[in-house]
Amino acid sequence: MSKYLDLSIKEIHELLVKHQIKPIDLVEEVIDRYNNNELNAFITMDIDGARSRAKELEEIEVEEDNLLFGIPIAIKDNINVNGLKCTCASHILENYESVYDASVVSLIKEKNMIIVGKTNMDEFAMGSTSETSYFGPPINPYNKNKVPGGSSGGSAVCIAGGIVPFSLGSDTGGSIRQPASFTGIVGMKPTYGRVSRFGLIAFASSLDQIGPMSRNVYENAILLNAISGKDEKDLTSFKTNEDFTRMIGEDIRGMRIAVPKYFVSDIVSPEVVEIFNKNIELLKQSGCIVDYVDIKFIEKAVVLYQIIAMGEASSNLARFDGVRYGLSESGKTIDEMYKKTRTEGFGREVKRRIMVGSLLLSGENAKTYYNKAMAIRDDLKKSFEEIFKSYDLVLGPTSSRVAYDLNSNNDNPLSGFMDDILVMHANMGGFPAMSLPMGKINELPIGLQIMGPMYSEATIYKLGSYLESILGGSND
Ligand code: GLN
Repeated sequence: MSKYLDLSIKEIHELLVKHQIKPIDLVEEVIDRYNNNELNAFITMDIDGARSRAKELEEIEVEEDNLLFGIPIAIKDNINVNGLKCTCASHILENYESVYDASVVSLIKEKNMIIVGKTNMDEFAMGSTSETSYFGPPINPYNKNKVPGGSSGGSAVCIAGGIVPFSLGSDTGGSIRQPASFTGIVGMKPTYGRVSRFGLIAFASSLDQIGPMSRNVYENAILLNAISGKDEKDLTSFKTNEDFTRMIGEDIRGMRIAVPKYFVSDIVSPEVVEIFNKNIELLKQSGCIVDYVDIKFIEKAVVLYQIIAMGEASSNLARFDGVRYGLSESGKTIDEMYKKTRTEGFGREVKRRIMVGSLLLSGENAKTYYNKAMAIRDDLKKSFEEIFKSYDLVLGPTSSRVAYDLNSNNDNPLSGFMDDILVMHANMGGFPAMSLPMGKINELPIGLQIMGPMYSEATIYKLGSYLESILGGSND
């Protein structure tokens, strides 16, 4: 079996430009690798579509300034790709086929990347292990008995397992970064609005963000270049006129870094804190200024997240009623039809959240809970912004522990939420945040999170790439 997919994107690109390989060689390699593993990373694999796209690309001259030309990519199964199933890992959408491309997918296609399939995930992106998938969980390539994290578990596993170099995930409260941490890859949740959400099946609209997942920092920035920008179909999106790789390789001396004391407190396992602090020492030796700081309201994020995410989810998922999309059960009355369809179609966790969310939004409760949570969310955002006046970036571990055994969170929804305790602040504030590997504990990878103020992705990539290079990772 050829090994082109193990090369860097720059190296692959050079081979394509020199006509030493063709896109179809890459696609065949993806198919081989997909067939030779049991990672359950994909819900739909589009082998025919990928092959015919690769053949079409042979008719076009390789674009020398486009590193993504002919490169395979996988898309999380809550993002619409015209003509492919979009299941959100749910029984209710098991047979639903997309009738249009999400705006990110149009951009990926314009770049002449090759979409190879749709990745496994937690049902409607609700979870931290990918175990709520109707299709069974994807497997962590580091240890098949451990969860890969979630909800973008399949998007992380297909990269960690070497099947594709790129994927798209979505992150509402950590769903790109936490699986990236558990599988040793790089995942970026961009600034809210940096990437259009048009065509992403909404979970919690004020928190949702699509982002790139990749093998290393540089390649992550290249993919963000391709998918970001203003989209008329998403009014929260904004114009982006920058190259996110532009600061990679710059001197990091004098960068000011804040570490919230909460991120290294006893909510995080001591082994994780130890590895994290070693990384911080390296950064200090490299000339960064690091302070451990208190951030007001930081410990409130989990509670706020639950109220906001469940409230918004209950309203977003109302559209799955047996009439418009997917599964439809018959009933004597319209109410009976709704009830049967939704009882049959949704899994346990999704139903739990719809019920709690509906309760939180009904009548006076909306004021008591949702509106209040939104007000405190604003305070939390402001206290981070206060920190960003004195510091360039905020660092912490991405997750409080390494990947744990499959089935160990069963019947304990709270335990799952605790997994996201370090990551949801970025969603609350709309801030960009990236996870990159910082070491291993018992052969299992663990991520470091770099968060910055709005629009600071290029700075995050600069520090991330430096850290990666001193930790022995790839720089480009
Ligand atoms: N794990 C969190 C949850 O269960 C976040 C999920 C996400 O970011 N989509 O809601």
